[in-house]
Amino acid sequence: MKLRHEIIDLHPVHPFVIARGGYRQHHNVVVILSDGDGVEGWGEAAPNKYYGESEESVVAALPAFARVLENADPFALEECEARVGETISANNSAKAAVSAALHDLAGKKLGVPVHRLWGLSADKCPLSSFTIAIAESDVLAERVREAAEYPVLKIKLGTDRDREIVRIVRGAAPDKRLRVDANAAWTPDDAARMIDFLVEMNVEMLEQPVAREDLDGLRFVRERSPIPVFADESCLIAADIPRLAGAVDGINIKLAKCGGLREALRMIHVARAHEMGVMAGCMIESSLGISAIAQLAPLLDTADFDGAALLSDDPYRGATISSGQISLSQLPGLGVTAAHATSRAAAGARG
Ligand SMILES: [Mg+2]
Repeated sequence: MKLRHEIIDLHPVHPFVIARGGYRQHHNVVVILSDGDGVEGWGEAAPNKYYGESEESVVAALPAFARVLENADPFALEECEARVGETISANNSAKAAVSAALHDLAGKKLGVPVHRLWGLSADKCPLSSFTIAIAESDVLAERVREAAEYPVLKIKLGTDRDREIVRIVRGAAPDKRLRVDANAAWTPDDAARMIDFLVEMNVEMLEQPVAREDLDGLRFVRERSPIPVFADESCLIAADIPRLAGAVDGINIKLAKCGGLREALRMIHVARAHEMGVMAGCMIESSLGISAIAQLAPLLDTADFDGAALLSDDPYRGATISSGQISLSQLPGLGVTAAHATSRAAAGARG
């Protein structure tokens, strides 16, 4: 197999601001694997500086992966993902892009969608939430109105006006299901003080209230919370899950954290063995990245796959979210096509 890449520039409709800050533009890396038959597999890396990655670090990692895959069997997916994982440490969004491209290629060569290869039923997909990022109070209600079609909203918190933000969103969406994500910004005491308020606001999920290394803090919050507590930043790979058991009610899986579709599948099974809930999420990424993680949607309790829905210029079509319902493409592989023949160039794809 041969490996090449393109950079895609993605623009959220509104700046995507969370407790750690935000950006108006995201540079993701599309990996293209091709075999001797001319079939191409695509995957997307959504590097995140919080996890030590950037567009440049992804591109720098790719030649090592290319060498590993040069003479590899494209159907030996387990071995290929493992060898890519061992080639260099970290760089999990880069590895995830290669894993997605490998699965896309195998599915296309067999003429079946990846979720079908895994024996999963497309009609078992859960709802996806839609994220209300941190914004000035005077525009929050408008953001909620723009998300009218989504029955579940996830509110980003971790500011000095968190209660005001939740009140505004609840006021603008009195009947919607609400979740909150503090992105590791609270102390355990902050979180404990917020719980009664979140219950009063009828919030149904609390994601990553405290710092990622503070597992005792997660446990402290969970013991005081009737609202399920989920780990995101504290849970990168399957090996993180056993020590989180009992400290949280569930985990949030992302390809950019775990490094590949097979590791994501292992995370689901390890979490289930510990009787934990399982959701999956995304970074700011196009429908290519969303369609990769969405292959696992039938195994999830819930999902946060709005990365492409937040964009003004998604260069791909694949898995969709309509009124919050995730639908998988029935095309082979990841089921992804370019949005328009020329749109990727128009959207800023750079070879
Ligand atoms: Mg999160």
